[in-house]
Amino acid sequence: MKALVDRVIEGVARARAPKEPPVPAGPVVEGDDTLERPACPLCGNTRARPLVVARDTWVEGRGTYSVVRCEVCAHRYTTPRFKEHCKHLAFEGDYPFYTRAREVKAGRRVDRAEARRPFEGRADRLRSVTSQAGRVLDIGCGDGFFLDAMRVRGWAVTGTDVEADVVWHAQTQLGIEATVLDLEEDALPAGPFEAVTMWGVAQLLYRPQRAFEKVAAVLADDGILAIGVSNIDSTGARLFGPRWRGLGLPRHLSHFTPGTLTRVLEWSGFEVVRIHHETPRWIVAHSADDALVGPVATAAKAALVPALGVAGRTRYGDTMEVYARRISRSRARVATMAETP
Ligand SMILES: [Zn+2]
Repeated sequence: MKALVDRVIEGVARARAPKEPPVPAGPVVEGDDTLERPACPLCGNTRARPLVVARDTWVEGRGTYSVVRCEVCAHRYTTPRFKEHCKHLAFEGDYPFYTRAREVKAGRRVDRAEARRPFEGRADRLRSVTSQAGRVLDIGCGDGFFLDAMRVRGWAVTGTDVEADVVWHAQTQLGIEATVLDLEEDALPAGPFEAVTMWGVAQLLYRPQRAFEKVAAVLADDGILAIGVSNIDSTGARLFGPRWRGLGLPRHLSHFTPGTLTRVLEWSGFEVVRIHHETPRWIVAHSADDALVGPVATAAKAALVPALGVAGRTRYGDTMEVYARRISRSRARVATMAETP
C-alpha cells in the first residue's frame, strides 16, 4: 500500500512540475478587447502573488490563466479574465450544466425523482437552518431540480438563470416560476424570501459583495443565503495544483476559502451559521485523469477517491456549502449605533 501511495505522490509531483510560464499568463494582447487584468474582486487592491497557472480544461487550446492571492485580503482570483461585456466567451462549447435541458427539448425523458436525488442533501441542510418552510429563490437554478426538491419539502419556489434553455425546462417541464436574468445586471424577483440559494454562482461574479448585498435586500429578516462553491484551500487543490478540476478556469473569477467567503459575507450584512464540506467523486476522478496517465492514473483513482472522500468531510473538502443568516435590519442598526463614538 505504501509503495502505491509513493507512486501516486511521485506521479502527481511530476504532473505538477511547472510547464507553463509564470505570471503574467494568458493571451492579453495589444488591442484585444476581450481580456483584462483585474484588481482584487473583494477589496480592490492590485498587489497580488501568483499561486497557480492553469489552462482552460473545457475549451481546448484557449490559453492559460493565473490564480493569484491578494496581498491585502488574501482573496484568490483569476487573471486575466474576460471583460464583463464579453463574459459569455468563457462559457463557449457544450457547457455541461445546460446539456440535459437541451436533450429534453430534443425529446429525451428524464426521471424526476432520479434527477432530484443529487439535490436532496442540500435541500435537507437548508431546511435544517431555517425555522419553517417559506419562499425560496434559486439564483442560477439550472433546469430546476433543486427547486423541485424544495417544493417537495413544502416551499414556494422561484428560479432565475442566465440561460434560456434551462429556464424553459424549469417552467414548462416542472411548472416552476422561473425567469431569465443576470444577478449582476437585472432586478431580482420581489421578496421577501425566507431563503436565497446560489449553487455554483458566487465564483462567477465580478462584484461578489455588491451581489450579496443585492440578495440581502430581497431576503426576509433573518433569512438564509446558501452558497455552494469549490474550496481552493482543499486537499485536492493542494495535491493536484493546476490540474484540480475545482479551478474552473477561466469561468471561475473568484476562488474562495471558508475564511474569505465568510469575510465577504460579513461585509455584506450576513453571519455564517453553518459550513458543510464535501469532496465529490467527479472532482477527484477528473483531476486524476488530467494529472496522471496509464496504470498510475487507475491506481491513483482507486486510492484517492475514498481517501479524499473522507478528508472531504473536513474543512479540506473540495467543495463547501456556506449557510449565512441575514443580520436583521433592527440588529444591524443597533450594531451601527454601538460602534458610533
Ligand atoms: Zn483583496
